[in-house]
Amino acid sequence: MNRYWTLARGPLSGLPTPANFELRTAPVPAPGPGQALSRTIYVSLDPYQWGYRKRGVEKPGEVCHARTVSQVIESRMEGFAAGDLVFNVNGWAEYGLMGEGIERPSYMIPRKLDPARGRISLAVGVLGMLGLTAYAGMTLQCAPKAGDTAVVTAASGGVGQIAGQLARIAGARVVGVAGREDKVRYAVEELGFDACVSHLSPRLAADLAAACPGGIDVYFENVGGAVFEAAAPLFNRGARLSLCGLIAQYGDDSDPDPKAAFLRRHEPLFQAKGMKVSDLFVGAFVAEHQGPFLEEMSALVAAGRVKYREDIRQGIETIPAAFAELMGGGNFGKILVQVGADPTL
Ligand code: NDP
Repeated sequence: MNRYWTLARGPLSGLPTPANFELRTAPVPAPGPGQALSRTIYVSLDPYQWGYRKRGVEKPGEVCHARTVSQVIESRMEGFAAGDLVFNVNGWAEYGLMGEGIERPSYMIPRKLDPARGRISLAVGVLGMLGLTAYAGMTLQCAPKAGDTAVVTAASGGVGQIAGQLARIAGARVVGVAGREDKVRYAVEELGFDACVSHLSPRLAADLAAACPGGIDVYFENVGGAVFEAAAPLFNRGARLSLCGLIAQYGDDSDPDPKAAFLRRHEPLFQAKGMKVSDLFVGAFVAEHQGPFLEEMSALVAAGRVKYREDIRQGIETIPAAFAELMGGGNFGKILVQVGADPTL
């Protein structure tokens, strides 16, 4: 039997709670022509999934969407054989089908994984969409260089830890913003950031100003809200900003499109400072950049030049609670849930 999570009925508001989800059981599906059946090993939990649900892209009764790392069990799909380890989109489920007739966004097409390139779980992290997000926003949009001060918010998280390390490798001075003290220490001691401040401090604005005595040249935004307000006065003329996400605002139901509202609200400031502000959607970078990015990032990770912390929870039952934690800062590193045995460990 296949256990999977689906949305419970009822309106969704604010931030997720476990009560928003129901665990169901159904027979394991059989692959049709052009399809393959796989068992899920790792389920990726990502803030955008809550947006999908609130906007009604995902309906009660459907398997909750998620990117996954899986192992093919039975294949009628060209290019995939039983035993293959794959990146795919099984969702919050123990088993799933891929291939013909299974709709996926074009930037989430299944691909085979090579365990020699790094832990297979990294395919939903640094060697996958999150790594590409950090690379697109930091390296391609903001292009940090020696002499710059680059600030990264949600600095110990899935995207933030990579974005900061890319800025460091490019020669910039890197300042993180994170929550708990252990996350702040991790950014400096493990990731090699030059400084990190806590947004839980009542003196956030002063702490950030002290950590950025020459102002901010590059700003990688994952959070918004009070963190952005603390950073805004420090932007230098011509600063570059990548608008990756605004997680502090994802629970605010009055704002259906927080990024558009953010860009409108702050346009006068961006104009006055002659800033280059780039909205970021990782899907737009996959076709052109994913291949070269994976080569480059696999080498950096293998050489230990980019470190990557994962927060791996165990068991399909834990998914809704882990998802709620992610949205409130309870995760420490890229959060994912292991729901099946990893044959590479
Ligand atoms: P993270 O692993 O960074 O986890 C989210 C973190 O956000 C939490 O751990 C917490 O860190 C921080 N956070 C949560 N609420 C608040 C708050 N109210 N104030 C300040 N910080 C808060 O998640 P991801 O790496 O998966 O995602 C990071 C961002 O990247 C999100 O905004 C997401 O939407 C965005 N994203 C955008 C993509 C794109 O294409 N543009 C693609 C992928 C992700 P702490 O405890 O340190 O505060």
